[in-house]
Amino acid sequence: MSEERRRFTLYNGVSIPNVGFGTFRIDDPKTAEASVTTALEAGYRHIDTAKIYGNEEPVGEAIKKSGIPRNEIFLTSKLWNNEHGYHRAIDAFEGSLRRLSTDYLDLYLIHWPKESNIDTWKAFEKLYRDGRIRSIGVSNFKIHHLQELIDKGKFIPMVNQVELHPQFPQKRLRGFCEKYDILIESWGPLMQGKIFSIPLMNELAEKYEKTVAQLTLRWHLQQHLLPLPKSTHAERIQGNLDVYDFSISDEDMEKIDRLRGDRIGPDPDSIDF
Ligand code: NDP
Repeated sequence: MSEERRRFTLYNGVSIPNVGFGTFRIDDPKTAEASVTTALEAGYRHIDTAKIYGNEEPVGEAIKKSGIPRNEIFLTSKLWNNEHGYHRAIDAFEGSLRRLSTDYLDLYLIHWPKESNIDTWKAFEKLYRDGRIRSIGVSNFKIHHLQELIDKGKFIPMVNQVELHPQFPQKRLRGFCEKYDILIESWGPLMQGKIFSIPLMNELAEKYEKTVAQLTLRWHLQQHLLPLPKSTHAERIQGNLDVYDFSISDEDMEKIDRLRGDRIGPDPDSIDF
């Protein structure tokens, strides 16, 4: 299997492993370190964390102990909502580096949009220009939030990490991001576990002789969406990476397309945390 199938390229030329390991709600340090260790052993080379997850330290520890050269791992963290603003953002970034025991990030994201997006973004641009971050992006940004950065910033975000899954495919946002070459990362790619009770996904998984998780992750990849599945179970962690040996037919992609639903998480325009 070619290595190429396992990676996407950001518009600045940075190569990114196209299935990332999610670490939200793995807040117990031992479990976090063990899960990331299992993920690295299983072959993941892309880890997604955030200041607010409270697990940057164990994530950094697992990376260090793995013995895998740092430059073979794509590491993302995110700036939390109380760290917005130019100077605070620089300090927040340094804090994440310290906790992760690393001297650079592959990707740093503004976790949620706020009124101060552009000031925060200027700090991100400086850190990027200074070579402290290999790529910069945002998370939970709607079109109007992105438009502001495009109009007022120097760099267009390279990534937008948003809630995205078969019941909430974000088609309009995807069209916009495609126009600007912004890669979409899907959070909640397995609908935070709810995907397993959708009959169609179970039927199709059986047809392709794959698990529902594998089928769903394949659905993301086939649309150039980068999923970040989270699990604390070794077997699931391993299985969630076994998604490169089959393709979903156009007809079945269309069937999945006809699923209807809504977002599970909060609307970024009305968050209050
Ligand atoms: P996911 O869609 O990845 O679902 C995780 C759930 O699915 C867990 O309950 C997990 O259980 C279960 N699961 C995973 N694999 C399998 C499997 N093969 N079989 C059965 N169950 C499985 O949800 P997340 O919310 O965690 O999203 C993924 C990642 O996206 C996060 O971890 C985080 O990194 C990022 N994220 C970003 C957000 C943002 O605002 N930017 C918001 C939310 C998430 P178990 O662990 O018990 O195996």
